[in-house]
Amino acid sequence: MRLRNIPGAREVMVENENVFTEPKGMKGTWHEVFGNDNPIYIEVGMGKGQFISTLAANNPQINYVGIEKYSSVLLRAVEKQEELQLPNLKFIRMDAEEICEVFAEGEVDRIYLNFSDPWPKDRHAKRRLTSRQFFARYNIILKKDGRVEFKTDNKALFDFSVEEVKEAGWNLDACTYDLHNDNVLNEGNVMTEYEERFSKAGNPICKLIATRSI
Ligand code: SAM
Repeated sequence: MRLRNIPGAREVMVENENVFTEPKGMKGTWHEVFGNDNPIYIEVGMGKGQFISTLAANNPQINYVGIEKYSSVLLRAVEKQEELQLPNLKFIRMDAEEICEVFAEGEVDRIYLNFSDPWPKDRHAKRRLTSRQFFARYNIILKKDGRVEFKTDNKALFDFSVEEVKEAGWNLDACTYDLHNDNVLNEGNVMTEYEERFSKAGNPICKLIATRSI
């Protein structure tokens, strides 16, 4: 994601009712935040929020939380939510490394990872959102029958992620190297900003679904 500092973005985040910028106190309270017991789906590294906003609009019976590290990127999602006013969509500005301080054990029903940063250097592998270190965090916050869904056009990152799913002791429930030509996995697919951009450029999109044995 190319980053441009947008003056005032941080201040907008702090004042906006749909964004949590000090989320550590929220652990275990997300159902209260939404005022219902509906499932909670999160997207980690959501960028400008096209994917999660579309899902929230299409599925009012599910609560969505979008997580993004940078205010300047998150700003676009927040502006869109100002227009849409979806009651089932909230945002957190945070580094996902702290995710276990923000969600309680089993509080999350599904985790989406879309076009996550590849961190190509080996010494940065643990920063990848599909590293075994991140799966260990997801293992805590995700309900036992929950799932992680990951999409990317980066084959090296995808191959790494497939291995990490296994290393982490999770099951690879589904896996494709060409999502848009997979009739089963592509059904109901909602495209992210990066997915639109890279598939237009001719790149096949990879997707995996990881779960644990219950
Ligand atoms: N998911 C969007 C999509 O598919 O269009 C955006 C993809 S963009 C390449 C990756 C996003 O993840 C960036 O906005 C980046 O700031 C965010 N990100 C990367 N690492 C993160 C982390 N540790 N915590 C929170 N956000 C992160």
